[in-house]
Amino acid sequence: MKLGVMGGTFDPVHYGHLVVAEGVRYEYRLDKVVFVPAGRPPHKLNYPISDPEHRLALTRLAVASNSFFEVSDLEIKRPGPSYTYDTIREMHRIYHPEEIYFITGADAVLEILSWHRVEELLKICRFIAATRPGHNLDNLTGKLRALPAQLIDHIVPVEVPALAISSSDIRRRVREGRPIKYLLPESEEAYIADAGLYK
Ligand code: NAP
Repeated sequence: MKLGVMGGTFDPVHYGHLVVAEGVRYEYRLDKVVFVPAGRPPHKLNYPISDPEHRLALTRLAVASNSFFEVSDLEIKRPGPSYTYDTIREMHRIYHPEEIYFITGADAVLEILSWHRVEELLKICRFIAATRPGHNLDNLTGKLRALPAQLIDHIVPVEVPALAISSSDIRRRVREGRPIKYLLPESEEAYIADAGLYK
């Protein structure tokens, strides 16, 4: 099987993420895409993010209508910083896929040289780095030059119009009392209101 692993803080997950996951699933003929809300993102240890239980619940609501999508609480349950290398190793152990495609934001991938065991990570999965059209990808290609040539090929940038939606904009809108309708599934909108998130 070919497995997609969708990694992100997902605070909250929105239609931009869902469009990315579905597009990559179709293009790469993936059998399933597992969304993995980050437990403690290593680069955000001193940065306020919503409780993992809320991010997990929102992600579960968001993927409910797509039978190709699943959610894993693997990073949330694992103590310590959430290294992608550990997650992909665990995904190989659980699913025994022929290939794993790790899907995340191009801005996150920009920092990949500082990631835990990056060269080993790129040997056990391929990266799909999603960004919005017109966003400058030169920075990414420039940074990747520091990697061995055969590993650079393991990172594919894709442009996704729906990524104009962002989690930070949704949080700001809630804080300012502006609408978030049509930016994420209605079930999430109701959950955010009930739980009083992002106020
Ligand atoms: P981030 O810095 O919050 O996000 C950077 C950009 O990418 C934002 O514009 C974000 O938009 C977008 N983005 C994030 N996830 C996305 C996805 N799955 N699809 C499309 N766009 C996405 O990044 P992050 O969410 O904290 O981290 C991304 C992933 O990289 C996580 O799985 C994290 O654990 C992993 N990571 C691993 C290491 C490591 O192993 N050392 C280090 C850093 C990150 P939104 O805000 O709208 O999502």
